[in-house]
Amino acid sequence: MLPYFPASYPDELLYSLLARYHRHTCSVSPKGTLEDLFGSRNVRATVDLPGHLGALSRHVPPDRDLTPERLAAEFTLFPYYVAFQQPMVVTDVLAALIHGRADGIHLRLGIATTTVSAATALRYCPACHADTLTRWGERFWRRAHQLPGVLVCPDHGMPLADSSVVPVHGHQHEFVAADDRNCRSGSASPVWADDCNCQAILLDIARRSAALLNGRRWGMNPADLTARYRHALIDRRFASANGRVDQRHLHDVFATVFAPACSALPELEDTTWLASIVRKHRHAFHPLHHILFGMLLDRSDPAPKVAH
Ligand SMILES: [Zn+2]
Repeated sequence: MLPYFPASYPDELLYSLLARYHRHTCSVSPKGTLEDLFGSRNVRATVDLPGHLGALSRHVPPDRDLTPERLAAEFTLFPYYVAFQQPMVVTDVLAALIHGRADGIHLRLGIATTTVSAATALRYCPACHADTLTRWGERFWRRAHQLPGVLVCPDHGMPLADSSVVPVHGHQHEFVAADDRNCRSGSASPVWADDCNCQAILLDIARRSAALLNGRRWGMNPADLTARYRHALIDRRFASANGRVDQRHLHDVFATVFAPACSALPELEDTTWLASIVRKHRHAFHPLHHILFGMLLDRSDPAPKVAH
C-alpha cells in the first residue's frame, strides 16, 4: 500500500496522475515507481488505454476510493473509445484494462486499421495551463486534449500545443509530468486559428469528443444505432422513405459542411467510412467518425413535417 498518492485534478489523465506521483516522491527510478504503483517493473506508461488498473487500485490508499472501474472511467480515454461499441466489446476491453496488459486493445475495438491518427506528443492548452498554475501551482495533462481529431481546447477554443513529451518514442516505462520545460510553446499559431468557420467546426468536434469522456452509459446495441441513423437519414432526406441512401448527395453535403476545416484536420479528407456507417453496422467505426456523422446530421435540416 502506498503511503502517499496525489489528489487528482479535473479531467486529469491517469498517466499524468502517476507522473505527478513520480515527481512528488522525488523518485529517481522510473522502474522503481512502477514497482511502487503496480508491484511490477514491466508496466508500460500508456496514455490512452492503460492496463493493470486492478493492480494499481490495490496499491492506492483505500480512502481514495479509486476502484479499477473508476480509474478506467474517469482517468483514461476508455469512455470515449467504447461509447459506440457493442456491450460485449465494452466488457472485454474493460476486463483487459483491469486485469492485464492492454496491448492490442485497438484491435479488440476494431479500429486498429482506421485512418484516424492519434497524436504522438502529449498536448496541452496554454490557457488551461495558465489557469491550473494559478489555482494549483502545477501543470497536468488533460484527457480531453489527447483525443484523436481534437485540435482545440473544448473549454477555451484555443489551438492545442504539442509538448516535447512523446511517450511512444522511448521512455515507455516512464511517466513524465507536464512542466515549464516540456510545455514551452515556441511554435506560431496554426494558420487556421484565424478562420472562424474552421474554428467552429474544430470546437464542435472537441466538445462532442470531450462529452464522450464523461458518458456513463458505455456501449450501444449496433441494431439500435443502425435504426437511429437510418431514421435520421430519412428525416433529413439523405435516404428515401424505404431507407435507400443517396450516397452522392450525402458525400456532397459532407464535403461542403467540413470544407472549412479540411486543411486543419486531414482526417476530413478521407470519407471511405461514410458509405458504410449508414448501412447495417457489421464492423466498428472510430468514435471520430460517429462524431462527424452526428455533426453532419445536426447541420442538415430535417424535412418539413406534413400536416395531416
Ligand atoms: Zn483550455
